[in-house]
Amino acid sequence: MAEKICVAVRVRPSISEESPSGTFWKIEDNRISLHKLHGTPISGLSYAFDHVFDESCSNSKVYELLTKDVIHAAVDGFNGTAFAYGQTSSGKTFTMNGSLNDPGIIHRAVNDVFQKIQMISDREFLIRVSYMEIYNEEINDLFARGIFVAGLREEIVSNAEQVIKLLESGEVNRHFGETNMNARSSRSHTIFRMVIESKGIDTGSGDYSSSDAIRVSVLNLVDLAGSERIAKTGAGGVRLKEGKYINKSLMVLGNVINKLSNGAKQRAHIPYRDSKLTRILQTALGGNAKTSIICTVAPEEVHVEETKGTLQFASRAK
Ligand code: ADP
Ligand code: MG
Repeated sequence: MAEKICVAVRVRPSISEESPSGTFWKIEDNRISLHKLHGTPISGLSYAFDHVFDESCSNSKVYELLTKDVIHAAVDGFNGTAFAYGQTSSGKTFTMNGSLNDPGIIHRAVNDVFQKIQMISDREFLIRVSYMEIYNEEINDLFARGIFVAGLREEIVSNAEQVIKLLESGEVNRHFGETNMNARSSRSHTIFRMVIESKGIDTGSGDYSSSDAIRVSVLNLVDLAGSERIAKTGAGGVRLKEGKYINKSLMVLGNVINKLSNGAKQRAHIPYRDSKLTRILQTALGGNAKTSIICTVAPEEVHVEETKGTLQFASRAK
C-alpha cells in the first residue's frame, strides 16, 4: 500500500494587480522555492512534497492525484481523512467545495463512493453522513442546527444527489444568524463525515470468509479554520479568543500528524485529546487510516510570511 500520509501544496491564482517587487514562489515539479525576483533561489526556503499544484491545476486533478486513493481505501474498509490547511483566502474552500464548473473534493468523493459501491456486487453497503463545525472548541451539528449534545445527527443516504442536498442545507445552518459569513467560516473547522459500512453477501461461491463479514470505515473531509496568525496587538475580545482556539487546535493537529508521520509506535503518546478537532478525527487519523493533506497558499508577495508558515506545517507532516 502507498504511503499513509500524502502531503501536497496548492498555489492559487494571484488575485492582486501588483507585480512582485522582491521575491516570488517558483514551482518545479514537486518543489516550491522562494526566489529573488531576477535570479537565485533563497537558501533555506525550498520545500519538496508529494505534489505541488500550480495555479492552473483543477480540482479534478487534485482529486485524482491526491485524494482518490483515500476515498477508494475507505470503500474497501480503511478509515481516511483529507483536509485543507492554509491561511484565509488561500483556496481551502475552493478545494473542498469547488465551483460549479469544477466541483471540489467533497462532491467528487461522494460521487466516487456511490459509483464504486455500485460496482461491488458481493457486499451490501450502508452509508451515513454527518456534518459539523468546530467553533471556539464547541461542536455545532450542521444537520441538526444546534450545539452537539448527545451525538451527531447522522443521515442514512442512498445516492450522491441526496448527500449534496443535505450539504447545501448544512451550509444554510452554518450561516444561520451570522452577519458576516466569511468571517465565521474562516474561523471554524468544518468536518464532513461519511461512515461506510458493508457486509459480505454469501454468494455461495465458496470464497466467502466470515472475517470479511462486516467492515466499517470513517472518512473525514475537513476544511480547516484559517491558519493566519492573529496579530498580537489589535485583536481583542472575540477575535483574540477565536485566534487562541484556532492556533491551539492547529498546533495540536500539527503535533499529532508530525508524530504519526515520524512513525510513532502504536503505544507512543499521540496528543489527540488536546483539542476537539483531533479528538474528533482520532479514529480516522493514524493506525491503518490513510490521510491526505492539501496545504493551500497564496502567491502574492504580501503573503510570503504566512506562506512560509504553511509550508513549514506541510513539511512537518511529511
Ligand atoms: P479559503 O477558504 O482558504 O479562505 P477560498 O477557497 O474562499 O479561500 O478562496 C479565496 C478566493 O480565491 C475565492 O474567490 C476562490 O474562488 C478563489 N480561488 C481559490 N483557489 C483557487 C483556484 N485554485 N483557482 C481559482 N480560484 C481560486
Ligand atoms: Mg474558506
